[in-house]
Amino acid sequence: MRLDTFVHAHLQSSPQKKGDRRLKAAQKLIRSGAVSVSSTPVLDPKYQFVPSLEPITISPSSAPLPATPPLLYIAHKPAGCVCALSDDLHPPLLSKLPPLPPGLSPVGRLDLDTTGAILLTSDGGLQSLLLFPTSRAEKVYRVTLPPARPLPPDAAERVAAGLTLPDGTGLLPASLVISSPTSCLLTLREGLFHQVKRMVAALGSEVASLHRVSFAGVDVEGLAAGEVRALTEAEVRERV
Ligand code: URA
Repeated sequence: MRLDTFVHAHLQSSPQKKGDRRLKAAQKLIRSGAVSVSSTPVLDPKYQFVPSLEPITISPSSAPLPATPPLLYIAHKPAGCVCALSDDLHPPLLSKLPPLPPGLSPVGRLDLDTTGAILLTSDGGLQSLLLFPTSRAEKVYRVTLPPARPLPPDAAERVAAGLTLPDGTGLLPASLVISSPTSCLLTLREGLFHQVKRMVAALGSEVASLHRVSFAGVDVEGLAAGEVRALTEAEVRERV
């Protein structure tokens, strides 16, 4: 992972730096020569390293930071990769991200062509908690529709009442906000296979493109496709 991401996460979670939310503070610290990786000062904030293998120290205290990487990461999934750890046809998401600590796997799945927020953790309990339909872990999707296929006027009402799919699957009530004839925001608690595409089809339209804006309140704001960041301890604690 990137050195400035790691130092930033540490600064945010340490009590004496509470409130300092700026990545710039971490970058300044690194450029000043205060941060060493495996006892060697590193001046490049973008330096890539493996937290579990290379201890980080920050002078003047030089006390090693905990080597355990944060439990939870958020990645911006690019299109054209799968969330499975391996696949015969398409590259896995993890091969599209900068190197991460071993053992992480995506929480749930996004389709090959879907972009956006995907959480990664090595904690099985947290995986289940985040995926449980009645948890607080909402998933917010931006759906783009073809110009000639707008949603019907009663779409939001039907989604709020709990849509029934053509195969008889009854869905939990959800929220649909139509922003234009070709764009809407759909907020779900469940994560059934192809759920958004099946819901939009049941409403008489089709998905032209799909982007997950956030998962469990963590969004991909500031992350370009293929980028990842560790959640701070405070952010993780809010979600367990
Ligand atoms: N629903 C879908 O149809 N596809 C996704 O990738 C995620 C939710």
